Amino acid sequence: MMGRNQDIQCNVDNCKFYSSGYCTAERIQVDNQYGSMSNNSDDTICVTFQPKTS
Ligand code: SF4
Repeated sequence: MMGRNQDIQCNVDNCKFYSSGYCTAERIQVDNQYGSMSNNSDDTICVTFQPKTS
């Protein structure tokens, strides 16, 4: 298990990179869901997300 990234707090507890309120991925990518129509945080998406397998 990689260390928690103290700069990335996350509450997606069904992601395989999630650990106790933090992201353990070495890096993440966040995209806008609606291209130039995105205008708030609800319109963004973490594409690094992967579901927990267990
Ligand atoms: S990869 Fe994205 S969704 Fe998963 S823990 Fe990290 S920030 Fe959260």
